[in-house]
Amino acid sequence: MLAAYITHPDCLKHEMGADHPECSERLGAIRDQLLITGLLDHMQCHEAPLASQQQLEQAHSALYVHDVAAHRPESGYVQVDPDTRMNPFTFQAARRASGAAVLATDLVLQGDARVAFCNIRPPGHHAGRASAGGFCFFNNVVVGIRHALNVHGLKRVALIDFDVHHGNGSENILHEDQRVLMCSTFEEGIFPFSGSVPMGANMVNVGLPSRSGGDAFRTSVSETWIPALEKFKPQMIFISAGFDGHREDDMGNLGLVEDDYAWVTKQIVQLADTYAQGRIVSCLEGGYELSALARSVAAHVKVLIGAD
Ligand SMILES: [Zn+2]
Repeated sequence: MLAAYITHPDCLKHEMGADHPECSERLGAIRDQLLITGLLDHMQCHEAPLASQQQLEQAHSALYVHDVAAHRPESGYVQVDPDTRMNPFTFQAARRASGAAVLATDLVLQGDARVAFCNIRPPGHHAGRASAGGFCFFNNVVVGIRHALNVHGLKRVALIDFDVHHGNGSENILHEDQRVLMCSTFEEGIFPFSGSVPMGANMVNVGLPSRSGGDAFRTSVSETWIPALEKFKPQMIFISAGFDGHREDDMGNLGLVEDDYAWVTKQIVQLADTYAQGRIVSCLEGGYELSALARSVAAHVKVLIGAD
C-alpha cells in the first residue's frame, strides 16, 4: 500500500452550531465518495494521533496553544470570531487534525506511504502563529511541514494552497522560513482580504478575480507556480486542499470543477515525481457544498494515488 488515508472520529465532534457550513457531514460525504468510487480500496487507513504540545509549537506560540486549551468550554460555545466557535470537543478535534498531518509526514518520509490524504477538520490554513479564525484553530499543514523540516531534517518543502480563500495563517507563520516555498491561488476581494502583496520572497501569491474560471486558474498555475517550484526543487510537497472554489460552492466564485482539481493535482504529482520522490501530503481545508466537495476530493485523490 503506497497511499495513506488518515482521519479520526474525534474530528466529527467539533461543531459550531446548526447550519454552520463547516460541519461534520463534510468528512462523511468525502469518505462515502471514496468508498463508492473504490478509491479507498487502494489506501491504507489510519487513525490520527493527537498532536503533542511540542508538535503544535512548531507552528504556534506556546502561549497560543495554552490559550486554545484553556478556553475550551465545558458546555455550549466560546466565540472566537463571528464565524468561528469552540465547543467542548474542538481542542481534541484540532489536535487530531494536526496529528494527522504529523502521522502523514512520518508515513511518507519513512517510506510506508508515497502519498497521504488527511480527511480532517477543523481546517487549518487561516490559523496564524498566535491566532485562530476562519473556522481554523491549529494550522495542520504547517505543523506537518515543520515536522518534516525540524524532526526529519528536510531542507526544502513546498506548500501548495488552492483553497478559494487566501491561506493567511500559513503565510503568517512561514513567510520568513526560506526552507519553504508557498504557492497559492485564491479569489480576490473575499475573506480574509489578504494576499495581494506577498509577505515574503518565498510566497508565490496569485489572486484571481471573481468568476475567473478554470482556464485562468490553470494558466496561473502553469505560469507562476510551476516555474517557481522547478527552481526551488522541493524534497516534499504539502497541499492545503480546499475545494470551495468549486462552482457549486457558495463560499466563492472562481467557478472551478472536478477536472480542474484533477488537473492541478496532476501537475503537483509530476513535480513531486521529478524532485521529491513522489512524496505528497494533502490536508483537507475548505469545501462546503457536500456533493461538490465529495466529488472534487475523489477527483483529487484519484490522481494523487495514481488511479487515474
Ligand atoms: Zn476556504
